[in-house]
Formats: sequence, C-alpha cells, structure tokens
Amino acid sequence: MAWWEREGSAGVSIFDPHLHFDRLRAKRALSGMLNFFIRTLGCQMNVHDSDRVYELLSDAGMCAVSSPEQADVIIVNTCSVRQKAESKLDSELGKLRKLKALRNSPTALVVAGCVARQRGEAMLKRMPFVDVVIGPDNLLSLPNLVKMALRGAPPTVATEWDLDRPTFLRSRPHRDGVSASSFVSISKGCDERCSYCIVPRTRGPERHRSPTEIVSEVRDLVAAGAREIILLGQTVNNYQDPSKELGRRPSHAQSDIAALIRRIAHEVPTLTRLRYTSPHPRFYDGALIEAHRDLPLLCRHVHMPVQSGSDRILKRMIRRHNRQDFLQTIGQLKKVQPELTVSTDIIVGFPTETDEDFEQTLSLIREVPFIGIYAFKYSPRPGTAALRLGDDVSDGMKAERLARVFELSESLMRNHLDRLVGTVQRVLIEEPNPRSDGGLTGHTDRNEIVHLRGDAGLRLGDGVVPLRIVEAYKHSLVGELDPMLTGVPSRIKHRLPIAPSR
Ligand code: SAM
Ligand code: SF4
Repeated sequence: MAWWEREGSAGVSIFDPHLHFDRLRAKRALSGMLNFFIRTLGCQMNVHDSDRVYELLSDAGMCAVSSPEQADVIIVNTCSVRQKAESKLDSELGKLRKLKALRNSPTALVVAGCVARQRGEAMLKRMPFVDVVIGPDNLLSLPNLVKMALRGAPPTVATEWDLDRPTFLRSRPHRDGVSASSFVSISKGCDERCSYCIVPRTRGPERHRSPTEIVSEVRDLVAAGAREIILLGQTVNNYQDPSKELGRRPSHAQSDIAALIRRIAHEVPTLTRLRYTSPHPRFYDGALIEAHRDLPLLCRHVHMPVQSGSDRILKRMIRRHNRQDFLQTIGQLKKVQPELTVSTDIIVGFPTETDEDFEQTLSLIREVPFIGIYAFKYSPRPGTAALRLGDDVSDGMKAERLARVFELSESLMRNHLDRLVGTVQRVLIEEPNPRSDGGLTGHTDRNEIVHLRGDAGLRLGDGVVPLRIVEAYKHSLVGELDPMLTGVPSRIKHRLPIAPSR
C-alpha cells in the first residue's frame, strides 16, 4: 500500500471539507499547482503501478495529497480479479461523482488498471462523469491526458496493450527517498490460462524486460537506500530474457530466472535481500532451487500460490500442476533451505468442489505447512473458462470453508510464531508501525512481521538489525534491540548502556 493511501482518505472533519478544500484548490489553481490523490485497490502489481503514477505525476509538477477532497486529479487504480473488488469500485465512484458535482473548479477523475482495460468504452457509457479510462500499459500518457481533461477535453479511453515495445515503468528514488523494500517489475501479463482468472484478459500476454534494464534499476534503488528488492511478475519464475543477454541456450539446464538472480547478486553486491513473486509451481527447476541453496541474499521464503489441494479441482482450474508436483517442489526447496517458509493463495468453493476436495485442501495446508495464506471465495469472472462449470457451491458453504481455512492458517501461524519467542531474528526495518506512535516495523527474511518494542533509537534506513523476540501475537512478533548483538548500528551501541546478555 502506498504511503499516501495509508494516511487515510476519509478523515473526520469539524468543518465543511468541500468548501474548505474548494477554496484551497481554487487558490492553487491560480498559482498553476495541481494536486493528485491515488486510491489503490488490488494486488502488488497495482501497488507498483500506483507508485509509478505517483512518480509520473510528480515529474509533471503535481503534488500528492492524502484525500480526494484536496485533489484536482483523483485516480482510482482498479482490480477486477474478484467481483467484490469491482463492486467496491462502483460504490467508490458513486461517492467521487458526488464530490465532483459539488465543486466549482475542474476535477479530473481517472479510472486506471484492470477494470479500465476490461470495461473500456463501456465504462464511459455507464459512468459519463469519468474523465480518463486508462489501462495498465498506458500509464505513460496519464500526465497529458489529465491535463487535457482539466482543460475541458472530452473523456478519453486509452487501454491498448504495448505488445511491440513493452514499457516497464522504472521504480526510482524520489523526494521521499526509496522504500527499504522496493518492487522491480521483470515481466508483465500472463500466458497461463487458469480457468478462473481474468488477469490474462486485463493484463495481456506475457512480456519480459531486458536483464540490463532490470539490473540497472536494482542498482539505482540500492544506491538510494533500498535493502530488499522484490522481483515482480504474474508467473515470475517463467521469466525469459528477451535480449538473450544471459546467454542461455534452449537446451541449457539453467532457467532465465535463476540466471537473472545470479546476475543481480553478482552485479549489485551491496543488495542485502532478494525476493520474487509470484512463482508458479510448474516453472520451478533445478537451477532456481540451486540459487536458493547458493545465494545468501535470496530470502528463505516463497509465496507460491497452490489454489487447491485436490487434483480433480486443480485439473478443472487448468493449473497444470498437481498436488504431488507441488509437494515435490516444496520438498526440494526445503532440502536446500530447511528453515524456508512457504505462504500461498487458496480459492474455496471452485465449481464442483466437494467436501472431500476441500478436505484435501486442508490436508495440504497441514502437510506443507503454509505460514500465511491468502484465501478467497471463488468469484465467477467474465470471459473465463470456469464460467462453463457454473457456480454450484453456495455462498454460505464458501463462507464456511473460507473460515475453516483461516482458522487452520491462524493456528499454524500461531504455533510458528510462538516457537520464535526467545530467538534472535534479523529484521529489515521498513516502516513506521501503524499501531504505535513512533514505533517501527519490519520483516525477517522468512517474512515474519516484527514490531520493534520501545524507542531503541533505531530509524528508517538502518537496514537489517538483530532483534530478540519477546512476544508473539496472532500474525506478528515483537522484538527488542539487544545492544550486545553484532549488527546493531554503532550509533546505537554507543548510546545504549551495555545490558547483560539474556
Ligand atoms: N499470478 C499470480 C499467480 O498465478 O499466482 C496471482 C494472480 S491473482 C491476481 C491473485 C490470486 O487471486 C490468485 O492466486 C487466486 O488465488 C485469486 N483469484 C484469481 N481469480 C480468482 C477468482 N475468479 N475468484 C477467486 N479468487 C481468484
Ligand atoms: Fe491468473 Fe493463472 Fe496467470 Fe496467475 S498464472 S495470473 S492465476 S492465469
């Protein structure tokens, strides 16, 4: 989630926000300064795209604000993976329509992302108050389109895919610095045809970025302070070097993703941590497993969506892997990294899913065991192959199965976290703890969330520090700084009295 969204968009006001902000906006318009607000719905791809929109609009001289009331340009970056996200968008747009209608000065309302691509022109027919409908591949033209809209141009739709010369918008340091953990996109679109999934229709065919561009972006981010890089792609481990720079012959055993990871490790030696998401189980090979064995910077965590534990359902989902393949890959990863944690995505209530199929999902969750599960009720999506199968699992049954997945997931997480109390974990300090004033939060390389207890003198930018785990919550840990441990910033070592080691 981007920082400007985290600040919250509603806010409780004791004055009339419309009047107040309208006056402010009118003043700014006189001085030629424009403000924008971005609301992000959906996955990491959208978070990444919203961050790029932030950079593009800042470059165009606009300024980010924390509520739509303050903004001349309002962007909703949309998700259409499930119907729920689409319905949320419709209600959001209803509110923004009212906000726009109350104003005296121009406002550009932008619908970006997957729903924009999916609905295209139809979006404007249904919602004529929208000014720009822009797909995930067209964001470069956004600054121009909003300026035109503010000058009174008719509504525009830009949703074509950039198939010939795909652009990958670069994450880059800006005036707020870089996040300790930053995304770098290595491929976009998807060539899989999972029968439930709308993504290939909204994000287009799979396209890949050149290793030189990727390494250069990683290098710049690390030079600006990023400690962890997350390589992004829909099936990220199917990365294929478009420029053949990695020198892999088709028959060669080394996959391009493994070669890319090794090249990043070699060419950016100051990078502390590297992750990739989301891998598809069917694209793991020996070379990627060996990279996990050999490269200490590769985190001991993978998020590998499995969707179901039943082979019958996996087949109907057209996942092109089965339960056995999945377990075998996890087994190989854990053989080279015994402490590795695995999280996953699960869909419950896929058409024809029986109690027995569902029990197999629960048994797979226990067998792996997954530490962290994103579970969803199956949602029929337009144009997908699964529509032919109907939607025969009732919503009540989906809700019941979802609750059982969460219950099991929480107990596995709880056991896992409880076992870490008393250990020392290396935590990347990433952001302020949203629940504690002045506190900080980060992740271990196995993806456990750790909140720092007390004002230990640490600050954002301190990188990876050793913390002694003193408490486990439901989904996270609490850690304290122990000045006796190696890796504590020397600034703090000097400041703290030497405590006896525990
Ligand atoms: N590309 C990633 C992959 O294959 O793992 C994930 C893409 S999708 C945005 C994220 C998750 O949404 C999927 O792993 C799946 O669990 C869920 N999902 C996708 N389509 C869905 C649908 N029609 N109903 C419910 N969940 C869905
Ligand atoms: Fe959707 Fe499957 Fe592609 Fe993931 S791999 S984006 S679930 S079609």
